[in-house]
Amino acid sequence: MYKILEDKYGANNYKPLDVVISKGKGVWLWDTEGNKYMDFLAAYSAVNQGHCHKKIVSAAKNQIDQLTLTSRAFRNDKLGLFYEKICTMTGFEKCLPMNSGAEAVETAIKLARKWGYKKKFKEQDPSTHFVRSGQAEIIVAEGNFHGRTTTIVGFSSEEQYKDGFGPFTPGFKTVKFGDIGDLKKAISKNTVGILLEPAQGEGGILFPGSGYLQEVRKLCDEENVLLMLDEIQSGLGRTGKLFCYEHDNIRPDVLIVGKALSGGVYPVSAVLADDKYMNVFNPGDHGSTYGGNPVAAAVGLAALEVIEEENLVENSRILGDYMIGELKKIESVKIKEIRGQGLWIGVELKHEAGGARKYCEELMKLGLLCKETHEHVIRIAPPLVITKEEIDWALERIREVV
Ligand SMILES: *Cc1c(COP(=O)(O)O)cnc(C)c1O
Repeated sequence: MYKILEDKYGANNYKPLDVVISKGKGVWLWDTEGNKYMDFLAAYSAVNQGHCHKKIVSAAKNQIDQLTLTSRAFRNDKLGLFYEKICTMTGFEKCLPMNSGAEAVETAIKLARKWGYKKKFKEQDPSTHFVRSGQAEIIVAEGNFHGRTTTIVGFSSEEQYKDGFGPFTPGFKTVKFGDIGDLKKAISKNTVGILLEPAQGEGGILFPGSGYLQEVRKLCDEENVLLMLDEIQSGLGRTGKLFCYEHDNIRPDVLIVGKALSGGVYPVSAVLADDKYMNVFNPGDHGSTYGGNPVAAAVGLAALEVIEEENLVENSRILGDYMIGELKKIESVKIKEIRGQGLWIGVELKHEAGGARKYCEELMKLGLLCKETHEHVIRIAPPLVITKEEIDWALERIREVV
């Protein structure tokens, strides 16, 4: 019944597994028939804190009863508290809140371009000229996923994401992910920023190799180019650090967060940067009706507090190491590679196995909801509140299916 309605009236831009979910709590989901499933996707890392986390939900409810939206034409009494929390936690001086991840990426693109035109050379040597109007370039990586706006899909290397949606925004160059030589070749005097995921989630849980981010950081310093990291999926504990870039002991100039910033309760995203970069924005330059509204601020604050209070970063690291170890012990002719960091794990199947989708369908029948990515990879990304017993429960089912 439900499925008929959805398929009759809904646009056909998704092909969900045939399960109709009506309730969630922690790592568990229930369908309309009362069947119970463990969620191994966590809404692409948006529900790192677990489904319907009590504290986040009650922060939302309380705020909804009090005040929902004022527009940014006026101040509200919650936004400052959210700013203080996110800046203290991340170590950046300024925050610019938006709603969806794609909007935050667009914001970072605007920031880098404006910085290029207004500041890039002037600070080093006032006699040199700025990046010439309309010439700014941003370098991105092959296999990237940064969202679905026309500008962003324009620099995707996934044909389907672009097909039929052009013309696209110029000013982007694509390099091989993990190849520092390729990046060096692509940099020019018009380069204002490098936009990367520290590890590619949609790309198939791909890590660029050790030392790469450090080399990128060094190159950005030498060339006076902004390093912009999209941690919408990899951030907020997913990889066993608060941010994935911490594995490489670097810090980006611009950090993009979203998804788990609200624990799945409400869309909240943000761009973080120090004031010397963020101050390219002046009143009227950029904005969003809902960005930074009181509900978003209250929810974002609670979501960040939960990550700290429940030690989710450490849980992700410890249980991630455990799970990767256990997965590697599985002897299966179908598995090509297990790779991961924290509770962000890709099980890559050999091509002979015939694609990951059918394994995800099998796992669903056993009560484990996974999503394939890039045809041959089963992506494992449970809520970070998961326990060792729950992981053992899941491992049993994965062993059975592969
Ligand atoms: C999900 C995601 C986005 C886009 O976020 P939306 O909220 O869907 O717009 C951007 N970058 C990365 C790395 C993501 O995983």
